[in-house]
Amino acid sequence: MTLQSFSGGVHVRGQLSTTWHGVCRRCGVVVREETSVPVKERYVEHPGPEDEEAYTFEHDILDLAPLVHELILLDLPLAPLCRPDCRGLCPVCGGDRNETDCDCAAPLDPRWATLDGLFADDLKSSLEGED
Ligand SMILES: [Zn+2]
Ligand SMILES: [Zn+2]
Repeated sequence: MTLQSFSGGVHVRGQLSTTWHGVCRRCGVVVREETSVPVKERYVEHPGPEDEEAYTFEHDILDLAPLVHELILLDLPLAPLCRPDCRGLCPVCGGDRNETDCDCAAPLDPRWATLDGLFADDLKSSLEGED
């Protein structure tokens, strides 16, 4: 990271590298990934109307923490995946579909199955009664 001062402020340029940890939203494994974000920001001591995007500093002390925080947050995926084509866990047997192919049928929630039956019966009786 290089700092270059100009009249009234400092240019911060460089590359910010970090490692983040997350949990795959489909299969739950821990995901660890390196990320590198380009930095090109401005710190100004007395921000003017044109400095909305700039960071500020006081007493010649440059606080890089907010910049780092913001850049890393912006770069983080909202819902990480261990890999783009992760197949997730089987909702029936809980097996990792990336590793094993189970023969589970498409999950049918027993509660919905009951409802389906009820609706079918209701429909039938109402049709019959409409004579
Ligand atoms: Zn995954
Ligand atoms: Zn299964």
